[in-house]
Amino acid sequence: MKLSFYGAARSVTGSRHIVDAGKTRILLDCGMFQGRRDQSRERNQHLGFDPKSVEAVCLSHAHIDHSGALPMLAKGGFRGAVHMTKATADLTEILLADSARIQENDCRYVNKLERRRGRQCVSPIYSRDDAQKIVKHFRGGGYEQSVSLAPNVTARFHDAGHIIGSSAVWLRHRTRGNSTTLLFSGDLGRANMPILRDPHAPPPCDVLIIESTYGDRLHDDVENQRKEMAKKLVQHAIQHKSKILVPAFSVGRTQDIIMRIKELVKNGEVDPIPIFIDSPLALKATKVFRQHPECYDEDTYRTFTSKGDIFASKYLNFVSTTKDSKLLNQRKGPCVIISASGMCEGGRVVHHLKHMIEDEANVIVLVGFQAEHTLGRKLVEEWDTVPIFGVPTKRRAQVVRLNGFSAHADRNDLLAYVRAMTPHPKKVFVVHGEERQSLAFAMTLREEFPAMDVEVPKPDSTHEI
Ligand SMILES: [Zn+2]
Repeated sequence: MKLSFYGAARSVTGSRHIVDAGKTRILLDCGMFQGRRDQSRERNQHLGFDPKSVEAVCLSHAHIDHSGALPMLAKGGFRGAVHMTKATADLTEILLADSARIQENDCRYVNKLERRRGRQCVSPIYSRDDAQKIVKHFRGGGYEQSVSLAPNVTARFHDAGHIIGSSAVWLRHRTRGNSTTLLFSGDLGRANMPILRDPHAPPPCDVLIIESTYGDRLHDDVENQRKEMAKKLVQHAIQHKSKILVPAFSVGRTQDIIMRIKELVKNGEVDPIPIFIDSPLALKATKVFRQHPECYDEDTYRTFTSKGDIFASKYLNFVSTTKDSKLLNQRKGPCVIISASGMCEGGRVVHHLKHMIEDEANVIVLVGFQAEHTLGRKLVEEWDTVPIFGVPTKRRAQVVRLNGFSAHADRNDLLAYVRAMTPHPKKVFVVHGEERQSLAFAMTLREEFPAMDVEVPKPDSTHEI
């Protein structure tokens, strides 16, 4: 067996790993690089290997840094099947169409400027048509079912508890009288997340490829703090008839927040106030959550069997049209508006900010990581004046940060995952983390398992097993 790492090696995006099992070439994930524009474009246009040489793909989950370069396979002549769980197939189809749409819009905008400067136009790395082409290769299956990828290679998908449909991919390569097994963790979730089951105990394997996003960090347990803050915020909104705006990613984070608020209301911990989910992508993603009860944990499944719809609630409203989104501006509080994008860089949330930021009774609640130079970051840093659509705007609304919404395992969760494997894997590759996180987690593994051969692969490196 030979392994090559074409992305998410000493970095977090562009997850792409090639497994050469004898003459069979399997690709694990085909993610998009995100980061500096020029560099990412180059890495997304050229995958690092010939798509025609790949026999089959196994996709761990729908997040774009794991699935976003799949259309480049179809463009490059790939003819095989892309295996994943059914929920991942449905979610990935939506996310790829959205990714193509964003690229088309971005290029249109950039080209308008480039033309003015007399420069050459850019084109999207793939179109909505290209995205549709690769979807035809999708084969969605169930958890724990064996899939034959080639006469000598089988795969199985184990629940990773990270987002709906997410899985760790287990491969077995049989040779004469021998077999080698490999487990690719994908992204691992955490215990007790709403809707999802906890990550499934990993099956034993000879070779492990494990993520390390939080390889050197521990999440705080802030459940109680978060509940107290939610109570205070709702009371404040009721008292002042004001709005609470929550910028959030449409997939996963939005559904997570809905379920947490529902739980608080059900337990009588907060009074119900109208909640508006204002993001077309969130609406589509929520539909996928509704369609896949096979991915629910016990509690959620019980709600599903008694009510049919896990999101059903009289105070929850999905806003689909732009007209209805605009009507929210005129609405008087109290209410909660959950809208994308999570870092306030685009989408409907920016319009809501424009309309509510100058009123000191309103509250902006930030729940996710806010990257440098984004509007979300400026809000976290409590700037008095922030640029909205390029116009300096006075911030009077209160900004609150709520932590603890990460869908990623922390260092202890990752370590527990490896401990649960008996016998322990002989060889481990640590991927999908900033270099510092991956190296630190590799060190932790070496200390606990001295017999284990642990490596942090370099980008574009190949390793013989
Ligand atoms: Zn992910």
